[in-house]
Amino acid sequence: MIYIGCHLSVTDGYEAMGRTMKRFGGNTFAYFTRNPRGGRSRDIIPEDAQALNTLLNEKGFGPLVAHGSYTMNLCAANPATRENGLDMFAKDMERMSYFPDSYYNFHPGAHTGQGIEKGIELIADALNSTLTPDTKTTVLLETMAGKGTEMGRSFEELREIIDRVELSDKIGVCLDTCHIWDAGYDIVNDLDGVLNSFDDIIGLRRLYAVHFNDSKNPCGSHKDRHEKLGQGYIGMEAMKNIALHPALQNKPFILETPNDDNGYIKEIHTVLSWFE
Ligand code: FE
Ligand code: FE
Ligand code: ZN
Repeated sequence: MIYIGCHLSVTDGYEAMGRTMKRFGGNTFAYFTRNPRGGRSRDIIPEDAQALNTLLNEKGFGPLVAHGSYTMNLCAANPATRENGLDMFAKDMERMSYFPDSYYNFHPGAHTGQGIEKGIELIADALNSTLTPDTKTTVLLETMAGKGTEMGRSFEELREIIDRVELSDKIGVCLDTCHIWDAGYDIVNDLDGVLNSFDDIIGLRRLYAVHFNDSKNPCGSHKDRHEKLGQGYIGMEAMKNIALHPALQNKPFILETPNDDNGYIKEIHTVLSWFE
């Protein structure tokens, strides 16, 4: 089975997102913990958080996948940028404590010229200084397309970060299908091979969530441009094979495709029809 949903806006509060996703026909969703570009956030109203948790339970939702800000760069060369990222990360962990069953995924960052080794070190340091034994949230590193100096473009890089995290049982991976395709993993012709390699290098037990996107570009393009399901280079047949793959069952799949509400409703229903 699958948990499927899309990104929603937190503008109307938390419970409102749960109701919206119920109306869309899905049973999970993602949201930005703060404005994805500006980085600001507003306070959580405890009653609203509780109302969402109740709704998720009653309606049988899977884990939600909150998304950290794009501006949060934990391995930036600029000290002010990195400090700001650490601050956002710490505050996001506080707010996530209202949603103990949710995951939190973020982009590992961009090393901005310092090199991959330094990037790995800084990301691991950020995780080690922020996560505590009391942290309830499972924090997911997202697989990235490898644009510019973006970190997380290979399973090996993610493994190296995870290896350096002390509380590593709190760390997992969110696999973005568009990103790994753009990074050069051929999930169209060799899905088993790619997932076996994920298992060998990272371990499938670390795979908690999927960002379910087609891609506007060919495999290995390092572009990161998402496309609607079936309308890109990955194609509907391969998307379906991914959703139905035995190694990926019972996980939240989040659509980050370029759609309006009706487009998401349609994609959610398409994905659910594969499981009938
Ligand atoms: Fe992302
Ligand atoms: Fe993504
Ligand atoms: Zn992307």
